[in-house]
Amino acid sequence: MIDYEHDISAIDAALLRHGMASIHLLRAGDQAALVDCGTGHSLANVKAALAHKGIAAEQLRYIILTHVHLDHASGAGAAMRAFPDAQLVVHPRGARHMIDPSKLIAGATEVYGRQAMDDMYGDILPVDAARVIETHDGYVLDFNGRALEFIDTPGHAKHHHCIWDARSRGWFSGDTFGLAYPECTVDGRAFIFPTTSPVQFDPVAMRASVERLLSRQPEAMFLTHYGKVTGVPALGRALLSRIDAHVAIARAAASAGDGRKQALLAALTAYLMDELRAHGSPLARDEAMAVWGLDIELNAQGLEVWLDTAKA
Ligand SMILES: [Zn+2]
Repeated sequence: MIDYEHDISAIDAALLRHGMASIHLLRAGDQAALVDCGTGHSLANVKAALAHKGIAAEQLRYIILTHVHLDHASGAGAAMRAFPDAQLVVHPRGARHMIDPSKLIAGATEVYGRQAMDDMYGDILPVDAARVIETHDGYVLDFNGRALEFIDTPGHAKHHHCIWDARSRGWFSGDTFGLAYPECTVDGRAFIFPTTSPVQFDPVAMRASVERLLSRQPEAMFLTHYGKVTGVPALGRALLSRIDAHVAIARAAASAGDGRKQALLAALTAYLMDELRAHGSPLARDEAMAVWGLDIELNAQGLEVWLDTAKA
């Protein structure tokens, strides 16, 4: 667990490797909230973190999901059983998938296969509809006097919102403000790139959402992948240019026929390695691939879906 200022901590979600996905813990007086809850395998780390801080299960009042992709939300049903006084706060497009996760499970099983689903996510349990709060753009949650404002942020997913915490002047950005893994940080400067994973990547919407987050002049971003990053204006510029680069790489690969997927993987890898070198990182290619190989695979898949469905 990493403790930041303003009663915010990052708990590791135990997704595949340490440092891949985080769950943020917030406190307001004697109450606690989670932003994202990871998978069915994440609950042990959450319970240990709460015990370490002396927070009882009944004090955990809100489980806030940035969106309902499985690395963020598949543990929601299990967590809601573990925290009997919690309410689930979710985007209106995601709520029904938490109440009845069967479609979510079927879709992801198609992508990953059964065994990998169990290994990565564990049991995905339904959430009682009576305990679900659906947000809307501009919705403000009064978290024991600590105002949390939700804005609709499509681009990574249509069921994605980001959460503004005025106290830290930070956004809990889920996957809208990209990925920045600790291994790629150089002298305190994070290395950020977008996630274009299937099936709702929309670069125009993503750009607009990122601009909207930046317009609040945040002091920090709390990314699910991974934790707090600062120096937000520079990160924003890098992220916007890398969204554009992903789109350009997809367009260039569009005519590659059967070789399209391979062309995308090769071009994305070469591009990100070049950018990482320019950032000053000494990571070798195989070290970098150990960190973001899965993201490159998912980004390539998502760009293929975008090419096939959108006005690319
Ligand atoms: Zn994610």
